[in-house]
Amino acid sequence: MPANYVPVQHPWSPSAYLSNEPAGSRETGFAFATIFVSAALFVVAVGFARIPLGPFPSFIPIYVTALVICDLVTAVLLFGQYRVLRSVALLVLAGGYLFTATSTTAYALIFPGLFAPSGLLGSGPQTSSALYMLWHTGFPLAVMAYVSARKGPLRLPALVRVARAKPWQGIAGVVALVVLVVVLFTAFATSGHAFLPMFMAGDRTTVVGKVFLVGIWLLSLAALGRLWRGKPHTVLDVWLHVVMSVWVFDIALAAVLNTGRYDLGWYVGRIYGLLAAGFLLIVLLSETARQHARLMQVTAELRVANDTLWQISMKDGLTRLANRRSFDTHLAEHLAVAVRHHRHLALVLVDVDHFKDFNDAYGHQAGDECLKSIARALDTCCQRPADLAARYGGEEFAMVLPDTDREGAVHIAHAAQKAVAALQIAHQHSSTGVWVSISSGVASIRPGDGLSAQALIGEADKALYRAKNSGRNQVAVGEASQA
Ligand code: GH3
Ligand code: MG
Ligand code: MG
Repeated sequence: MPANYVPVQHPWSPSAYLSNEPAGSRETGFAFATIFVSAALFVVAVGFARIPLGPFPSFIPIYVTALVICDLVTAVLLFGQYRVLRSVALLVLAGGYLFTATSTTAYALIFPGLFAPSGLLGSGPQTSSALYMLWHTGFPLAVMAYVSARKGPLRLPALVRVARAKPWQGIAGVVALVVLVVVLFTAFATSGHAFLPMFMAGDRTTVVGKVFLVGIWLLSLAALGRLWRGKPHTVLDVWLHVVMSVWVFDIALAAVLNTGRYDLGWYVGRIYGLLAAGFLLIVLLSETARQHARLMQVTAELRVANDTLWQISMKDGLTRLANRRSFDTHLAEHLAVAVRHHRHLALVLVDVDHFKDFNDAYGHQAGDECLKSIARALDTCCQRPADLAARYGGEEFAMVLPDTDREGAVHIAHAAQKAVAALQIAHQHSSTGVWVSISSGVASIRPGDGLSAQALIGEADKALYRAKNSGRNQVAVGEASQA
């Protein structure tokens, strides 16, 4: 392998995602610090949770819009990761986020005073509470299902079928299921609102409402516990701990420890809800940006590696001239063009005179240096873009000269002979002269000739043999070229 070949090394695996990367101490520390700060703020807020503030008409639309956008984008990013990693757990979690986005949309539609004084779709006084409960039940259940699906072999036959399905089928199935559940529940909570229990009396939560909300809060705590027990944690798990913790604080403030709508707990809890929605989104977006940067870096590295590999496959390691493979391709291509378009083409085969004696007298390393110098000299003689100087093998070189007639090729062969002589590489054991010299054989095709590459090389080789037999350090022309 050439010395200049540097293997590309990546400090990361291309398949490393938040969802399969083990959590490091940095992420864990940062996440738990976030939970700690949220908990401290929560403790402060608890004392003021029951202070009535009254309705701010712009709050719910802003809150709901931000929530829906955050959760939708998070769902899309998670669906994207599922497409790559084919993890059912990710599909379930993406479904959970889609569920919150969809049920929040339904919640907004029926919320009193938002699109209609008592909500759209014919909602009753208990409808918004019912939808709040649906939304806050679905997400912890999705988180629990995510941990179960991530932890081990899938036990539910339906999930096994999802794992075997194509990604788009899995996504379409989850989207259809989520929309169906939300639509059916919304239909029940609106048209059947008379059957709903009394969760609210005006803006105050009733005892029945509190019982339901405490149940939902406990379910969220259980989801947090399930997450915690689902070790080893990935980076995504660690951030889900933050999301679920903030979610638990949200419900505690906005539904359990406050009095009802529009008190301080209700508002602060919803702000916690927004933070919960934003956390994972920010992490996923920064991961996407990071991966994009990595992709650019790897693409650049691959381009360099590709270039290096191309050099290795087409260049001679010692002389840096085109190698035999490259010579064969170049000659075949240009010969085909010359034959098809009735153009000239010439080939010069070059052999170093008494090179074995040179090696014997000066050593192999000096021989290598001599070959490199001769290669450079031959290369400078090949001036046109399509000309190619190549190492044919050992101490033999070749010059492919497209659009060059016999006289032109002889001229270049003499120029090469002079260029090598000008190097003045001492060769005291040569019977030809005091400097290293070369012999050349020229073969060419004229417009209308149809010689094969092998035949052309044979001609040049025969001419080279004659140059050698006639005393070396000279140029001989192939017979076919002379005809
Ligand atoms: P002639 O004038 O008839 O060409 O004589 P010659 O000694 O050059 O011919 P021969 O083909 O017998 O010797 C070629 C020598 O070239 C033998 C081999 O050791 C040497 N050689 C081939 N490749 C290399 C190389 O990469 N490095 C070095 N140092 N020597 C090489
Ligand atoms: Mg030889
Ligand atoms: Mg030789």
